Amino acid sequence: MGFGYFPAQVEGWYSGQLYPVLLTLRLWLTVWVPFSIGDLLYIFVSIYLIYKLIGSLLVIKKEGLKGVKLWRASAIILLVWISFKLLWGLNYDRLGAGHLLQIEQKAYSGAAVTSLVNELIDSLNSTRKQLSEAKIQVDTLPVGNPAPYFSWAQEAYQRAKTSYSFLPDKAPRVKATLFNPLADYVGFTGYFNPFTAEGQVRTDMPGLELPFVACHETAHMLGFASESEANLVGYLVATKSSNPYVRYSAYNEIFTYAQREQLSMMALQKDSVGFMGAVAQNRDRLDTLVKQDRKAVRRFFNRHRSSVAPIMSGVYEQYLFLNKQNAGLKSYDEVIGWLIDLKQKQLKK
Ligand SMILES: [Zn+2]
Repeated sequence: MGFGYFPAQVEGWYSGQLYPVLLTLRLWLTVWVPFSIGDLLYIFVSIYLIYKLIGSLLVIKKEGLKGVKLWRASAIILLVWISFKLLWGLNYDRLGAGHLLQIEQKAYSGAAVTSLVNELIDSLNSTRKQLSEAKIQVDTLPVGNPAPYFSWAQEAYQRAKTSYSFLPDKAPRVKATLFNPLADYVGFTGYFNPFTAEGQVRTDMPGLELPFVACHETAHMLGFASESEANLVGYLVATKSSNPYVRYSAYNEIFTYAQREQLSMMALQKDSVGFMGAVAQNRDRLDTLVKQDRKAVRRFFNRHRSSVAPIMSGVYEQYLFLNKQNAGLKSYDEVIGWLIDLKQKQLKK
């Protein structure tokens, strides 16, 4: 819609002023309901669409294509697209978290990624030690009640507010998805509903995943549309938490991204010696308990992996391209670029 040419205006007028109001209005409507209204909406719309599709097919059979009101379907699609853009989607065109934090996505060296990886390993090891000392169990299997984990994410936002002034006074809370049984097929851990502004989290996955995914989805609720921004804000907030479980969850997630970037850079340069060396070094540096946790979580997702997920992630990739997220699914990994720049800026201070 051309708004991408005016990111400063979108940042100031839409993301900075109009969107917070639109969010508050929708939170008034949804916050009282313990389940996801957006999910219910999706169910009704799906049933309606199937009903309409069958109806249209019957009309085509009887009267041919001329009987179908194509203009009406097109008008509805256009209306949905405009609502999407106005209610949230314009946040894709803003200057965003990088601008607010005064950091950039610059080209970085393999050494910079390795240094970030090592730092994350140290953080993983030390928070894991704190958890063991406090006798807090790390959930590598689904938990019975996800509610406390969602509260921890909300508390993390409250605390992070003192460090990041762009965060709101009271952060919204995510909800459990109604679509857990679909998660393996679609391949999601959480998603945001741009119409109701609710963040949903898959709850039948290892409890260790919940705090970071909740922080990531909360960032989407607050208007950080791109995946890299949601990862960045989610990570910065989670690592400010006073709860070691929340920090551990975030370090674990971002370490996965950082290690993947480290290894893929070496693979691209055909540096097989460096690749094997990095794999061995990371394995040596990681605490045994951290390795155990990560292995158990990996085992859980491997057991649940379905052959449909790659098809669905292809659909989501198209959606990301449509919203100018040119890196597609790789845009999740772009958080590494932000973090390296943030680290370098902090060192200079
Ligand atoms: Zn996301």
